[in-house]
Amino acid sequence: MIAQALSTTRGRLISQAPLAPRTWFRVGGKAEWLYQPADSDDLAQTMRALPPSVPVTVLGACSNVIIRDGGIEGLVIRLAQGFSDISLESDGLVVGGACLDTTIAEQAAQAGLSGLEFLSGIPGTLGGAVRMNAGAYQADIATILEWVDIVTRKGEIIRLNNTDLQFGYRCSNLPQESIVLRARLRGTPADLSNITARMNQIRIARKQSQPIRVRTGGSTFRNPDPSCTPLKAWELIDAAGCRGLRYGDAQINEKHCNFMINLGHATATDLETLGENVRNRVFQHCGINLQWEIKRLGKHTSK
Ligand SMILES: Cc1cc2nc3c(=O)[nH]c(=O)nc-3n(C[C@H](O)[C@H](O)[C@H](O)COP(=O)(O)OP(=O)(O)OC[C@H]3O[C@@H](n4cnc5c(N)ncnc54)[C@H](O)[C@@H]3O)c2cc1C
Repeated sequence: MIAQALSTTRGRLISQAPLAPRTWFRVGGKAEWLYQPADSDDLAQTMRALPPSVPVTVLGACSNVIIRDGGIEGLVIRLAQGFSDISLESDGLVVGGACLDTTIAEQAAQAGLSGLEFLSGIPGTLGGAVRMNAGAYQADIATILEWVDIVTRKGEIIRLNNTDLQFGYRCSNLPQESIVLRARLRGTPADLSNITARMNQIRIARKQSQPIRVRTGGSTFRNPDPSCTPLKAWELIDAAGCRGLRYGDAQINEKHCNFMINLGHATATDLETLGENVRNRVFQHCGINLQWEIKRLGKHTSK
């Protein structure tokens, strides 16, 4: 059904595409169909041609997802070449959905635009950053985004303003199954030396607090609402005795215990089981229900 609906696409369509090598955790099954659109019009046309019953999943750099071992049904979309352009303007940038956050930060710095330094250590794409309202060091996408162009599940290309997205802590109300094509991010003209100094500060702070060059998905759980507890997720995990906790080759990182890592041969099930063990232990310890920040996508393998 999917192949027939997409017979006229100009993009790249692969059946039963392995996803694990494309993810930061290096786990997960296959995409029933993996589609890399040729351009925005091709993507919009594909969405229109696709029967409404076919589920659509969008992936960016896969730095905040666990793809389950049974893979993802339907159409998995990954933006590639043609979606990474950056055009510089005097007080901001228009950035493609597949552009890496680190590249955005570097280009903004080179252009003498400040306010985007926080993106320098976030290993995702613009699309993932908008969906997740990615942020760090007292800034997030909500503070710099002016508008975003998306393709809806029905194949319309529409522009949403910052307020339409109703950004919250690590979330937005980007319409389900829509795809971020590009966005305009605001920057403030500033001295290059100040911008690079801020980026260096951030790099050093990350190096001190987070594991480097490991298979991880970043923060596993959202920090609880401050009205519930002043403690961060990592503090609750630490207090519940979970630092270094293992399930198979999945481990709660010793250095930053809100990071889970794949030591080598973990499966998605191992990672998810470990995460659920941590949630149970934290709940038993202090009565707080941690919520996953990492998106878990796809289906479990049938036993
Ligand atoms: C080492 C490490 C450090 C990290 N540090 C931070 C940090 O400091 N701050 C922070 O906020 N996050 C951090 N993260 C998490 C992650 O990098 C961010 O959430 C990032 O924004 C995810 O982007 P992505 O492209 O990898 O999205 P993915 O992980 O591929 O997907 C995440 C979500 O975004 C959606 N999505 C992806 N692309 C698009 C698109 N084009 N259109 C619509 N939806 C899309 C997906 O469907 C999914 O729901 C870290 C992760 C790692 C591994």
